Amino acid sequence: MKKLFAQNREVFLSRIHIILILLAVILIDNMLSGKNPTVHVFRYWLPLSGRTIVIDAGHGGIDGGTYHKDGTLEKNINLQVALKIKNLMEKRGANVIMTRTQDVSLDSLNNKSDYRHKRDLIARSDIINKARPDIFISVHVNAERSSTSTRGPMVIYYRESEKSRRLAEFVQKRLEEAYIAAGQKIRARKPLSNSTLFLLCNTDVPGVIVELGFITNPADKSLMVKEEFQQKLSQHILFAVEDYFKKS
Ligand SMILES: [Zn+2]
Repeated sequence: MKKLFAQNREVFLSRIHIILILLAVILIDNMLSGKNPTVHVFRYWLPLSGRTIVIDAGHGGIDGGTYHKDGTLEKNINLQVALKIKNLMEKRGANVIMTRTQDVSLDSLNNKSDYRHKRDLIARSDIINKARPDIFISVHVNAERSSTSTRGPMVIYYRESEKSRRLAEFVQKRLEEAYIAAGQKIRARKPLSNSTLFLLCNTDVPGVIVELGFITNPADKSLMVKEEFQQKLSQHILFAVEDYFKKS
């Protein structure tokens, strides 16, 4: 009886060994292929699991975008916020593709136009169309030289896309909440429909252009360069995207 028990025990232990070896092989395989096995398993339970999102930080490199006379450039705010959105969305399980992660323009990626600015925009729409994401978000900063009191976020969508309009409404509302949460008094806006902006007309998935605020308004500008407010804007863009997927 004792012997039989010992034999069973041996069989049991050898099976445990096999299972442990198999687990080790899976872990090593995951590590070699660059995946974090824990993250890989938990991704399936997160709110943005299975979603692919392109984040486009507008302008870059030679193209500074709009500017403030103190030297602040739109391209830097766009990238800082875009990277924050990326981090937040990845933590929620999304597969995030960036059009740029550094201070570069994208015009060298194709030869489809004689104009640098046009090539840059074509490169962005190519990245979006190739990735076939669920949505894209293009991050920008606004300017209104004739009226420094004009302020607040403004979201733009392609007129012919119902899904883009719904996404734009969520983003507009959440961004206004971010300003209010920071103690700012801003007027509520409806998102703007558009049928001429290159990125909106030349992409075949839902997406929005997000103008975070006005660099020509002193209050907006001083908020947009602050790390803390950038984090708040990014968090609220994440909320809006989750609203959109929950209700679509
Ligand atoms: Zn811009």
